[in-house]
Amino acid sequence: MAAAESDREVPSALCTEFLNFSAKDTALKWIQVTDLYKEVYQHLARYVPKIYCLGPNLNPQSEDLLAQLLLQAPLEWYLCGEDPSTGLAKLEQNNQPSQLCGHVFRVGEPTYSCRECAADPTCVLCMQCFLGSVHKEHRYRMTTSGGGGFCDCGDTEAWKKGPYCQKHEPNISDSCQEDPLAHLSTDMIARCYNVFAIVLKYAVDMLTWDKEDELPPGLEPPDRGDTYYCMLFNDEVHTYEQVIYTLQKAVNCTQKEAVSFATTVDRDGRKSVRFGDFAFCEQAKSVIVRNTSRQSKPLRVQVMHSSVVAHQCFALKALHWLGHVIGYSDALRRILCQVGLERGPEGENSSLVDTLMLCDSKMWKGARNVYHQLFMSSLLMDLKYKKLFAIQFAKARMLITEENLMTTIIRTFVDHLRHRDLQGRFQFERYTAQQAFKFRRVQSLIGDLKYILISRPTEWSDQLREKFLEGLDTFLELFKCMQGMDPVVRQVGQHIEMEPEWEAAFTLQMKLTHIISMMQEWCATDERVLIEAYKKCLTALTHCHSGFTDGEQPITLSMCGHSVDTIRYCVSQEKVSIHLPVSRLLAGLHVLLSKMEVAYRFPEQLPLSELSPPMLIEHPLRCLVLCAQVHAGMWRRNGFSLVNQIYYYHNVKCRVEMFDKDLIMLQAGASMMDPNHFLMIVLSRFELYHIFSSADCRKSYNRENTNKDVVQQNNTLIEEMLHLIMMVVGERFEAGVGQVEGCDEIKREIIHQLCIRPMAHSELVKALPENENKETGMERVIDSVASFKKPGVTGRGLYELRPECAKQFNLYFHHYSRADQSKAEEAQRKLKRQNGEDMALPPPMLPPFSPLFASLVNILQCDVLLGMLGAVLQWAVEPSGGHWSESMLQRVLHLIGMGLLEEQQQLKNSSEDHDVSFNFTLKISRPGEAPSNTASVLALLENLQNAPHLEVHKDMIRWILKMVASIKTMRELTASTYTVTASGSHGQEEMVCDKDKAERKRKAEMARLRREKIMAQMSEMQRHFINENKELFQQSLEELYASTSTSLEHSPTSSDAALVCVGPRRSRPREKRQVVTCILCQEEQEIRADSKAMVLAAFVQRSTVMSKNRKRPPHDPEHYDPLFMHPDLSFGTHTGSCGHIMHSHCWQRYFEAVQAKEQRRQQRLRVHTSYDVGNGEFLCPLCECLSNTVIPLLPGTKGSNSCEQPGLGQWLKISGQQIKAMHSAHRKLQPVGVDAVEETVEEQCPATENFRIDYTPMSPYSSTIKEMLTTFGTATYKVGLKVHPNEQDPRVPIMCWGSCAYTIQSIERLLVDEEKPLFGSLPCRQDDCLSSLARFGSACWTAASQPSVQGHYIRLVAALIPDPQVETSPCILDIDMLHLLVSVVLSYGSVHSQDSSGLSVDAVQLHFFHLITVAHMVQMLLTSGPEEVTMEQESGGAEREEEEDICTLYNTLRTHLGSSLPEVASGWHLWRCVKTGILPYLRGAALFFHHLNGIPTPPELHALCPGQWEVLCGYLSLPANLLQLYHSQKELLEPLLYGWCSHPGVRQTLQGGGVLVSFPRESNSLIDLPDDYSALINQASSFTCPKSGGDKSRAPTLCLVCGSMLCSQSYCCQTELDGEDVGACTAHTFACGAGVGIFLRVRESQVLFLSGKTKGCFYAPPYLDDYGETDQGLRRGNPLHLCHQRYRKIQKLWRQHSVTEEIGHAQEANQTLVGIDWQHL
Ligand SMILES: [Zn+2]
Ligand SMILES: [Zn+2]
Ligand SMILES: [Zn+2]
Ligand SMILES: [Zn+2]
Ligand SMILES: [Zn+2]
Ligand SMILES: [Zn+2]
Ligand SMILES: [Zn+2]
Repeated sequence: MAAAESDREVPSALCTEFLNFSAKDTALKWIQVTDLYKEVYQHLARYVPKIYCLGPNLNPQSEDLLAQLLLQAPLEWYLCGEDPSTGLAKLEQNNQPSQLCGHVFRVGEPTYSCRECAADPTCVLCMQCFLGSVHKEHRYRMTTSGGGGFCDCGDTEAWKKGPYCQKHEPNISDSCQEDPLAHLSTDMIARCYNVFAIVLKYAVDMLTWDKEDELPPGLEPPDRGDTYYCMLFNDEVHTYEQVIYTLQKAVNCTQKEAVSFATTVDRDGRKSVRFGDFAFCEQAKSVIVRNTSRQSKPLRVQVMHSSVVAHQCFALKALHWLGHVIGYSDALRRILCQVGLERGPEGENSSLVDTLMLCDSKMWKGARNVYHQLFMSSLLMDLKYKKLFAIQFAKARMLITEENLMTTIIRTFVDHLRHRDLQGRFQFERYTAQQAFKFRRVQSLIGDLKYILISRPTEWSDQLREKFLEGLDTFLELFKCMQGMDPVVRQVGQHIEMEPEWEAAFTLQMKLTHIISMMQEWCATDERVLIEAYKKCLTALTHCHSGFTDGEQPITLSMCGHSVDTIRYCVSQEKVSIHLPVSRLLAGLHVLLSKMEVAYRFPEQLPLSELSPPMLIEHPLRCLVLCAQVHAGMWRRNGFSLVNQIYYYHNVKCRVEMFDKDLIMLQAGASMMDPNHFLMIVLSRFELYHIFSSADCRKSYNRENTNKDVVQQNNTLIEEMLHLIMMVVGERFEAGVGQVEGCDEIKREIIHQLCIRPMAHSELVKALPENENKETGMERVIDSVASFKKPGVTGRGLYELRPECAKQFNLYFHHYSRADQSKAEEAQRKLKRQNGEDMALPPPMLPPFSPLFASLVNILQCDVLLGMLGAVLQWAVEPSGGHWSESMLQRVLHLIGMGLLEEQQQLKNSSEDHDVSFNFTLKISRPGEAPSNTASVLALLENLQNAPHLEVHKDMIRWILKMVASIKTMRELTASTYTVTASGSHGQEEMVCDKDKAERKRKAEMARLRREKIMAQMSEMQRHFINENKELFQQSLEELYASTSTSLEHSPTSSDAALVCVGPRRSRPREKRQVVTCILCQEEQEIRADSKAMVLAAFVQRSTVMSKNRKRPPHDPEHYDPLFMHPDLSFGTHTGSCGHIMHSHCWQRYFEAVQAKEQRRQQRLRVHTSYDVGNGEFLCPLCECLSNTVIPLLPGTKGSNSCEQPGLGQWLKISGQQIKAMHSAHRKLQPVGVDAVEETVEEQCPATENFRIDYTPMSPYSSTIKEMLTTFGTATYKVGLKVHPNEQDPRVPIMCWGSCAYTIQSIERLLVDEEKPLFGSLPCRQDDCLSSLARFGSACWTAASQPSVQGHYIRLVAALIPDPQVETSPCILDIDMLHLLVSVVLSYGSVHSQDSSGLSVDAVQLHFFHLITVAHMVQMLLTSGPEEVTMEQESGGAEREEEEDICTLYNTLRTHLGSSLPEVASGWHLWRCVKTGILPYLRGAALFFHHLNGIPTPPELHALCPGQWEVLCGYLSLPANLLQLYHSQKELLEPLLYGWCSHPGVRQTLQGGGVLVSFPRESNSLIDLPDDYSALINQASSFTCPKSGGDKSRAPTLCLVCGSMLCSQSYCCQTELDGEDVGACTAHTFACGAGVGIFLRVRESQVLFLSGKTKGCFYAPPYLDDYGETDQGLRRGNPLHLCHQRYRKIQKLWRQHSVTEEIGHAQEANQTLVGIDWQHL
């Protein structure tokens, strides 16, 4: 309050007025007045403008408080008639909680719908209800809410089963639905009613108020000031950037303020951007309007009087208040519902609720949200009013009887589409963008229709029938407007000038598809309705085509002795339309009729007699011919719009109500016609009649026609026509057309999809039509036709066709596209070849037709078809001139096959006394009809059997001939049962003889096939093996490429002597000459110090993968001293390599070429690449791996065979002298300061005879190697510190040593995590990389200034051995010991180069190693923490010595540190701690010395076997009892121990003053993820943007490294990083991952990899559905569960520092990824 008052001064007069106000008195006064309405309005008019909107900055806190005191309190007093705190409590006691859950969804919250029990897909449950419901065991769909919906739990109409969850299960004892108002007194009810009516009216008035400067009557303020707001409104047109820019100009605000304004406008729908007098606001308005009106509609701005804004603010508050008050009592809620739905004075649709809904689009977003929320907590929580409200909202299901909603909706819809042609059909040609917008709004009406139709009635009343049919009538009106719309005419000569608009019509069609299907389903439930609907539809069709013969001359067609009358019509010359909804609805109804019992029993009752079959088929046939002609290329000049239309016509989204129905209509028509007549009309419409009708068509067809295009066209048309005939006869899987079950159709679809190739669940779903509930029905049948193959770590689960289903394959399946068909054909032939079967793909067995369609089979044996078949076969016999095609022949053979199968089926099924009238074999054996003496079809086939040019069709022809023979036998057998069996033994003998021959031939064939099969199997197995073991093969290839001879030799050279890698006793390195090949010039080169430099491509990156302290802020790059690594390893530098080796000069040339190319490319077109050349990045020329520098390859150091080496004591002395000498030498180099003069004179180095401090050693390296030493050093320095390159910086060598140590540590961790042995399991690219790093480290001092490297050395040593001349050394708790070891060993080279005493490097390395090992043990004892109470302290005796030793050491430490260290009873615990804690360090040291010195490794360390400790210690020249290191040198070490412990930092850290890391450091993992993905969605949905005050984040994104949730891809959370705006994710990566990030985008179910500001890619999430598929974008909604295997794979990528590399590969593979602004995510 205090702050608020200082913000804004309330005049003292007002203050006293407020203080004297009494809510109770006001309420009492109100109870007495007669016109309460006027009284309350006066009260509001007086106070509201005094509370709200008094200045530029609104102050919600104090406003709310005042509003509560002055406005709400009197209302509550009035309502309760007593102190509201007691009154409301009383109400609450009698409250009956609603049985409806009504939970309102937040944006992004998960919602669940049961695919088995939901009444429609809009019925959803919240997560809590879902988990407590029966549906979690059912098949369900999970989606994320767009915000604003509510949970339907408890609504019995929403669920077919299980409407209640456990929580909302109604209590059976009080199930009697009593009236909630029964508990209230009539007075109370009346008062309540009054208050609610007034307040709600007030709120509605104000929220729908559109005057800027006036208030509704009764609310005019007593005194008006010149105070206005300039209010900016949201629109869909302007971008964020435009708004921000405009605001900065118009109201003179900063960028930040403008962003904040824009964000609020976007969120709330409006925001005041200026406060002041009218002119002041008006000026801002005009600037905004002027600035935004240029491109488009100007931004909406209003200058509003402050009192208007104030009342609107309070109106929102009032709605909140209403929602709050009704929460106390179901009775109040009931009253509010009554008030809201009560019809107003204006009659229908004038209730307050109606008013709000009608003004919905005029309101700003914030207001809309508030009233929606009130609706949901009131109307939708009251069972009685929910229904009433639903009617109001046009959502009720049984509505049709109560109001004729269907008619209303369709009428409204039709009225909106004004453009019509002369026949009243829709015209979308002149359809503009503005109309398109309007059209979209109209479409939502269709959505309402869906709600009405979604659940079919189980019982029909006469009234319902009447209303439904009435609705159908209007529906047909709509269809009539669509029948024939958007007609096309073939373009000849010129290409069309403008692509005609076609999308609108198709959008309309697509939107209506489900509704049409639903209408048919309604009809199917009632025979009377169906027959009536059929009649109506027929009338409509007749009406549409009343003039269809107008202007079209009748002609007579005759062929093969048949003739028919039809009209002259050419698809290629006249108008034709794809839109025929009336015909198609009729086709649908026809099939339904056919399924009805009446069709079997009393077909005469059907309205079939009124049909004119030629009229029925005419338009669908034209449409199908149009498709054929488009395929034949005859409509090329009509452009893409037609191609698109044809595509959608067949597309799975439309075909059910388009292509499929056209086919059915053809079937229906043909079944009622003479098949010869039908075929002649088909021929005529295909414009092929003249070819087949000519008397000598077999001979002279096309011979005279030499136009190749026309020949080609005709060939295609014939193929298409034959295909159509196959479909008319063969498509019997629609229940009603054929005698099939409902699921047979879907089974067949799936079979044919899987015949193309095995498919994932989602692919199958996409290929199948969905019903209005988005169900395909696939789950019911899939297991019967396919087997599921689980996915591996990549890829997805696949369904594979069961082998026994392959025989149902139909090459001419009607839903195949041409591409599908040829793929399926190839796949099926291959399968047959593998199984050793013949290659014929005969038609499958078909189910019988339903009676209504039964006559269709006669098409196969009719004269016209046989004539056509004969003609094609004849052409094939004499294939000159190309006037036929193989596809044509293939189709003819297929048709013949269909005929034969049909006959065989009928013979099999016929009872004995029935003669089978279908006699295809007889027909094809007879010579041709028209010109006598032409060969029969059968004869032609026998002729073709041996034609050399028809090799591919041989198997099929053979199959046909075999069928003919077998049918003949069948017929003879059946005939012979009647006639006497004396058909002659002669024939039988012949048959036997033939059989023998055939048998022999068959056997020979079988043998051949078996051979082929074996061969095929062998090669298949081979390929399979290679495929299965891809990684293995790849690796071996990799090894081949990158075989440096340094790679491990697994068998040690001398097996008797134990191998030692460090110290004077170290084993001989196994190196011979080391020769490598340059990948660029292919020349071989020996690695020598004085030869040309060879380099490894390398990638250096900063890393936090091993960090134990993600809170540590990034270092200041300029001043950071990296010499000592803290044991929390918070930032490290990792070096990796693909292992590919080049000459340094070859690489330089390559890199320069890349640079030049990149420059040219950037000038020409601003293309991005996956790598940043300017930053030194390039792709490895061999493997395209992202790299940013190269490491030189160096020879190993030679072992020194010196004899006597100093012990620890002596060495400490020597070392101390050397350091002193260096100190003084360095001081000389420095500019002489005044205070330093005296000392220098005094302390001349005492013993320098063996240490030539002035000696400058020669670099042993060639000039190119020297150059490369600088290159890699500078790169590591630049990347590791994030600074500009500076080869002079003394920190360069430090960064290189650090990178060596860090990389070793990270590899050591990786080996532990992957459960791999220490040696022998790394890919050789990593071995090469480590060797090069270690050797580089020991050589890099030669490229730097010697004194500065020696300076580093001195400071490193001082951390171990106290040195008074070094001022600040870190305490040992703050040092990572492996880093120290590596740095000290690698920097020693600079000191040793001046030593001439014969001291060996090996001895020094060992002394340092032992010393640091002791220091590490001390470090661990200090941090081991209090002893855990472990009972099973088995002192096996073996380690008794160690336990005693360690107690001694520990107690020594305690004498130094006292109470800072807890007392420890036994050594067992301490020894355990030290032994496990030190192991990673020892393993790291072994890796280091092995690579540095090139010593072979003991075989025991190549496996994970027991006894590793001893072997490891031996290899490292350590005693197995590490404590001997201390005990054997106690006197020497004691002072050091004292020095370490007395460092002030130790005590401070132990007392909690610093980061205490305990050992061993566990490997970091990515965060744990929940098993069920919806848990994540739920978590993300409650996440609010941290910057915009409790607002929901749009793209909540989870950091998988640390678990932070971020508000990604949004303006609100952009921050500045190095002078650039970056999104929350990029900003987070810089702190959390040193530039590399792994995120999960929760809404998208997508993993995001980021690297730096410019690189990123998406990666498959570790969540899979039950079908083994990810759901990126969460579109399918199948439940998702965590796949641990895949998550581990992501974790591995992270742990091995491959994320950036992965991004590089992804970007190379997919260029569009490069263009994305990753930094804004
Ligand atoms: Zn719920
Ligand atoms: Zn519930
Ligand atoms: Zn269910
Ligand atoms: Zn080369
Ligand atoms: Zn490479
Ligand atoms: Zn993080
Ligand atoms: Zn945000």
